[in-house]
Amino acid sequence: MRRTSSISSTASSEEDTMQIFVKDVSGTTIPLTISPSTSISTLRTLLALRTNLPTADLRLVHAGKHLSSTSTTLSEYAIPPNSTLHLALPMRGGMPPKKIRCSFKDCKDRAQPIVGDCGFCTGHYCGKHRLLEDHKCDGLEDCKKESHERNADKLNSERTVAIRGV
Ligand SMILES: [Zn+2]
Ligand SMILES: [Zn+2]
Repeated sequence: MRRTSSISSTASSEEDTMQIFVKDVSGTTIPLTISPSTSISTLRTLLALRTNLPTADLRLVHAGKHLSSTSTTLSEYAIPPNSTLHLALPMRGGMPPKKIRCSFKDCKDRAQPIVGDCGFCTGHYCGKHRLLEDHKCDGLEDCKKESHERNADKLNSERTVAIRGV
């Protein structure tokens, strides 16, 4: 028995790495060189950085099996080198995600899932209206209004002076 209780969280001195591939929801393959002792949670963090998706929304699937235990490592899941994992987004009750229309005025485009959600207002936007400026974000409007009011005040005070001067 060479495999003693060395399953500690500290990295061993001679760690092997292997290459795996992760296919994301859009079909892009992301190659990763990682250690077989990498946990699913670490892998999800890496993928969240690569895909700009929130970690909580990433589901990893290998050979049809959902890798749901985040503390389990790749070797414990018996994932061999050069395997392809699949990235899936959560399905609510087995139903496909509801199509959301872009919230911008009368835009008919589909809102982009997750990346189309604006962090400054409650809207969901398509690729064209995703940015604050493009959908005239409420959050942005507040800032504009403030500076506009400040300008108006200034104008009013100037006008008062002018009237007084007549
Ligand atoms: Zn739009
Ligand atoms: Zn917004």
